[in-house]
Amino acid sequence: KNFIIAIDGFSSCGKSTVAKALAKHLNFVFIDSGAMYRAVTLYFIRNQVDCENAEAVSKALENIHIDFVPNAEKTQILLNDEDVSEEIRMMHVSDLVSEVSAIKAVRHAMVTQQQKLGQRRNIVMDGRDIGTTVFPDADLKIFMTANPSVRAERRFAELTAKGEQVSMEDVVENLSHRDHIDSTREESPLRQAKDAFVLDNSDLDQHEQLRIVLEQYAD
Ligand code: C5P
Repeated sequence: KNFIIAIDGFSSCGKSTVAKALAKHLNFVFIDSGAMYRAVTLYFIRNQVDCENAEAVSKALENIHIDFVPNAEKTQILLNDEDVSEEIRMMHVSDLVSEVSAIKAVRHAMVTQQQKLGQRRNIVMDGRDIGTTVFPDADLKIFMTANPSVRAERRFAELTAKGEQVSMEDVVENLSHRDHIDSTREESPLRQAKDAFVLDNSDLDQHEQLRIVLEQYAD
């Protein structure tokens, strides 16, 4: 049987950094579920899809095709064959992604696709509802946390390194906005799975985090 590792937590808790390192170490496939919701959001922005209009949403979902292309250094995400890896990280997408992700039809479409991606291969998937909804029987579940100021600083550094003009205030506001919507939405809200191992990485470097998670894997 294939092995599934689910990594969940609030925004900017360092999930993808741990997930990538773990996947590389174990030679598993890494899947960033947030990138899928971001790609859908980008499509909605570009095509001015009205989130309230169920028909427009379902038509949009039919026209959205998302692919991951693994490369030597990083995995590209394709939205209808266009590489959108960079654009989906930008603030205009972050500002709307939680609203789009809260739409039931969007979640159903993404969860189905994520479950398919986890068939017959070993994966590490990070997100918000991976250990609760997408793979409730995952072999290993990690729930990551970090203190809010550490999270905001990391996110700010990431965005400014890419040349985005954002203030610390904008970043803090966006993180708390997303956390709120993500944890209060009706459909598969962000929750810590009962059987998840909690990893607070506020004061841990990447090596220490990987070591701790590998210990859990070996158990
Ligand atoms: O992981 P990342 O911060 O890139 O995710 C962007 C947004 O996508 C989250 O704030 C959340 O609204 C949504 N998301 C989700 N379920 C997931 C992964 C991400 O709702 N499994």
